[in-house]
Amino acid sequence: MELIDTHAHLDDEKFAADLPAVLDRAVEVGVSQIITIATTAPSSQTSLELAARHPLLRASVGIQPNHVAQAGPGDWDQVVKLAEHPSVVALGETGLDRYWDYTPFAAQEDYFARHLELARRIQRAVVIHCREAEADTVRMLRADFERHGPVRAVMHSFTGDLATARACLEMGLYISFAGMLTYKNAQALRAVAAEMPLDRLLVETDSPYLAPVPVRGQRNEPAHVRHTAACLAEVKGGPLEMIAEWTSRNARELFGL
Ligand SMILES: [Zn+2]
Repeated sequence: MELIDTHAHLDDEKFAADLPAVLDRAVEVGVSQIITIATTAPSSQTSLELAARHPLLRASVGIQPNHVAQAGPGDWDQVVKLAEHPSVVALGETGLDRYWDYTPFAAQEDYFARHLELARRIQRAVVIHCREAEADTVRMLRADFERHGPVRAVMHSFTGDLATARACLEMGLYISFAGMLTYKNAQALRAVAAEMPLDRLLVETDSPYLAPVPVRGQRNEPAHVRHTAACLAEVKGGPLEMIAEWTSRNARELFGL
C-alpha cells in the first residue's frame, strides 16, 4: 500500500532534531512521497534544500496569506526565482484567511492572484489555504477560471461546506483532507467527504499541526497520514487500499510526481 502526504511543513523547527527518523517512520507505513510546503520566502529556500537532500520529498514555494504582511520587497522575486527548480511541484501555500488578522485582506488577494498567475505561466500546481474565506476564495478562483479555464490546484486541509467543495470540483480542483476529518465533532466535514468523487481526493497531514485521532494532541508527522486515509476509507465505505490507490494516483496527476 502506498500513501502520499501532499502537505507537510517539514522545515518547521519541530522537525529540526529528528527529521531522518520522521521520514523513516513514514516509509515504514507506506508513505512514498511527501510534499513539503513553504510559507515564506526563506521557508521556500529551506523546503527546496530539504527536497534536494531527501529523495522522498518534493517542495512547494510560496508565501502563505498570514505571512504576506511580513514579506519584504525581494521576497516575491525570490519565490519566482526558486519556482522553476525541478524539485518544485507546486506554488503555495497561498489563498485567503479571515480567521487571523495578520495580513490586510487586499494584500492576501494580491498574493493569491500572483501565485495563480505564476502557476499557469510555469505549469505548476497551486496549494490553496482557505480559512473562513470560502466565498472570497471561490470568487477569485471563478474569476481566474472564467478567463483561463481549469486550474491545477488543491483546496488543502478542506473544512468548508458541500457547496464550496462542489464549486471547487466544478472548476477542476482537488479536495484534500487532513486530521480534522477524524475529529469526533467533525460529522459535517465527513458528510462532505462522503460526497466527493474518488478521482479528486487527496490526503495530507499539515504536519506538525492538527494530528489526527488517535494521535491528536501530539506533534503531527507524515506517518500519521494513514489515520486520515483510514477515516476517509470508512467515510467512503471502502478498504484503505482503495483510498491509498486513488489518493496516490490523484497526487501524481495533480503534482506531476
Ligand atoms: Zn499548511
